[in-house]
Amino acid sequence: MPERTCIGCRAVRDKAELARLSAVDGALKLDDKYSLPGRGAYVCRDAECIKAVYKRRECFGKALKRAVTLPEESVLRGLILK
Ligand SMILES: [Zn+2]
Repeated sequence: MPERTCIGCRAVRDKAELARLSAVDGALKLDDKYSLPGRGAYVCRDAECIKAVYKRRECFGKALKRAVTLPEESVLRGLILK
């Protein structure tokens, strides 16, 4: 399994341990099946990492190389930590 870097804490982990997020029509979506086309941003399934990326929202745009609208932090946290 390839390794990816969490955009919250910068830890390098197996891709399967991280949640993949991608931009769909300009909105950030959780890519449950790691199958959405285009670039992905990876974050640990950890509330602290999600909090960290919301403090530096531009890191999503940098990772995805496009502007993206984020859901509320609590919504994304609910999806990732379910
Ligand atoms: Zn992390």
